[in-house]
Formats: sequence, C-alpha cells, structure tokens
Amino acid sequence: MMTTDSQKRFKFIDLAAMSSPELTDRMVRAAEEVIRSGWFLHGRHTENFERRIAELCDVSSCVAVSNGLDAIRLIFRAYMELGRLRKGDRVLVPGNTFIASVLPLSDLGLVPVMIDPSETDYNLSLGDALEAVEADDGIKAVLLVHLYGTASWEREAAARLRSRGVLIIEDMAQAIGAEAPETGFRDSRKAGSLGDAAAISFYPTKNLGALGDGGAVLTSDDTLAETVRVLANYGSDRRYHHIMQGYNCRMDEIQAAMMLEKLPWLADVSRRRDEVARAYCGSIDSPLVTAPGIFGDRVQVWHQFVVRTPYRDELKDFLAREGVETDIHYPVPPHLQPCYMGRLLSAGSLALSERLASEVLSLPIVNTTPGDAVEIAAVINKFQI
Ligand SMILES: *Cc1c(COP(=O)(O)O)cnc(C)c1O
Repeated sequence: MMTTDSQKRFKFIDLAAMSSPELTDRMVRAAEEVIRSGWFLHGRHTENFERRIAELCDVSSCVAVSNGLDAIRLIFRAYMELGRLRKGDRVLVPGNTFIASVLPLSDLGLVPVMIDPSETDYNLSLGDALEAVEADDGIKAVLLVHLYGTASWEREAAARLRSRGVLIIEDMAQAIGAEAPETGFRDSRKAGSLGDAAAISFYPTKNLGALGDGGAVLTSDDTLAETVRVLANYGSDRRYHHIMQGYNCRMDEIQAAMMLEKLPWLADVSRRRDEVARAYCGSIDSPLVTAPGIFGDRVQVWHQFVVRTPYRDELKDFLAREGVETDIHYPVPPHLQPCYMGRLLSAGSLALSERLASEVLSLPIVNTTPGDAVEIAAVINKFQI
C-alpha cells in the first residue's frame, strides 16, 4: 500500500511529547532553582528523591546513582566487599534481557550464566533458577529482570533459593511501580522489595525518565545500602578517607530536582499505559500474532508492549508502510553479541531466548491513546503472509 501524506502516523516514542506543557514548566523552574543555588551534588533534592523512591517501592533505603548499569554494578561489587560474593561466582541471568544486565557482572569478574525465560511472561522463572542451582552450586546469585514492566516472583522457590544462600537481585530498570503476588493478589508486593536488592534505571525512555542518565539501588539491608553509598562516592566513608577502591556514580541534583517534579505523574503514566495495553489485547485477533499476557494477579506497568510472531520482520515492514513505527527489544541476545560470542555460559538451551529475538515486536505505547491502540490493532489484524 502507498503511504500518503494524509496517512495517520503512530510514532513509537516522542520524548519531548512525553511531558505536558505544565510538567515542562515545572521541570524548567526546578532546574533553574538548582542552577541558581550553586549546589549540584549530594544535596536536598537527591535526598528527597531517594526518600520518595524508597517509599514508592516499599524499601528502607534508596541510593540514587548515575545510571541503571552502575546500579547493578554497585550492588554486586558491594556484595563482593561484604564477602557474600567472590570473583568467579556464577550469577543466573535471563537470556532475553538487555545487555546492560550482563556487562557489570563480567566486568566484576563474576560469571553470568544465561537461562531461558518462561514462555508465559518472558521472565526468568525462580522455579527454573532453583533447578539450575540444584544442578550447579557455583551459582551464588540470580539477577531477576522484570522485563517489559511485568514483575516476576515465585515465593516458594525464592525461599528455597534463599535458604541455600543464593542472593536474589532484581533488575527493575523497566518495572517501577510493578507488583507481583507474594501469597495471592491481596498480598501483592512492589518490584524492588521482592529480593535482596534492586537496581533501577531512569534512562530517558524508562517509565520514570531523567533528562539524561540516572539510576538507583534499592534495598532494606542497611549495611548493603551504606556499602553502595561508599562505593559510589570514591569508596570514601568521610572526606579524603577511602576504605574501598570505589567509583564515582553519583546522581546530579538537577536530575533529582526534575524527576521529583515528574514523580506525581508516574501513577498516571502507568495507568494510561495499562489502558492502552488492555485496548491492544482486546482488539488484536490476528492468528499470526500473539499478544502479551495480562496477569490478573499482578500490577503491570508496561514499559514495552511486546507482541510475538514468527513473521516479525514482515509485520514490522507492513506496519511501517501503514504508518506505525515499531521497535525490537531485543534483536540480538547478549550471548550472541560480538563481545560475548561463544564466551557466556548457559544453564540448558537458549533456544527460546534466540527465538524471541527473532519474533518479538514492540508496539507504540508511550505517546499512544487506547483509541490509537484499537486503530493499530485493526491494522495488525489485516496483516497477511
Ligand atoms: C535500561 C536497562 C538497563 C540499564 O540502565 P541504564 O540506566 O541505561 O544504564 C539495565 N537493565 C535493563 C533491563 C534495562 O532495560
């Protein structure tokens, strides 16, 4: 079909349009206040932001840091400083995650072990993790990635992993505000409070995005939080006194101040994305396309809305011709990236991770209304191979 100028276009993401004129004004004023104050790091905005994020995710401590990758690195490095992990220890990671989950592990001399996710929610299953740990007691930690904004948790398996001394670290870069059931829906718990510690990202496209980079470590373990804080500030416990060979992973005051203005809108962002996701799921009925699961027992925040089809590239081209922009999360799994090719261990086959890389397609959800979703679904339903 010919694309005409009058054809309606659906953008995948428009970062400028993500913020209302009112929110933009508030962020400009917040940034100006920081600029005029002359106080750029370790100030009251960062402290406030940490308190608010800790409350939101139901943990006692939040350490605001430079980005999500550094947040993961700081958690694992802190556990190494505390003697809970050592170089060469293995860490289980879902095979379909973004590479930033894996990079900090190999950088620290830990050994990532990739494992296929569950076919139901595309997340690592803690039941599978338990089996992998029973077969290999070199696995000392699990990096539980709540991919696409859907949290994953299996209480029994988590308890058995913990009783074996296995750490459960959440990569909740995509899942701020998501919840998973503890014993049932009434007992639902926030992503970030499920495991021993959690890493979050405020990359601009994430549900709560900075105007640049940002991240945080969440935990209810005070010793871990303090160790992360020291590591993120040159390893110093007080000025010019360095107890660890640390990093510089601080969050800027200006980012904290601007994100504090965004925070009151976050619940709206999640609710709107949920409406769009439900509109998509209620309208997509092509036999060629599988919509993602809506799970009645969980709060999903829909960082991405990801459909699956064996004809992914054809569907992507078809939608592009029809004016619908899409994206792929992710086209090449970490173990097939040039930097890791042939060098990452795996627990079992990674066939599903590889299949997902060729079948997943992310539809617009950020600057999209439920009405748009119904229109896009109608286009998808016309797709033929
Ligand atoms: C975005 C992301 C990261 C990395 O966060 P940055 O802030 O970009 O460093 C890590 N893991 C997952 C799953 C992500 O989506």
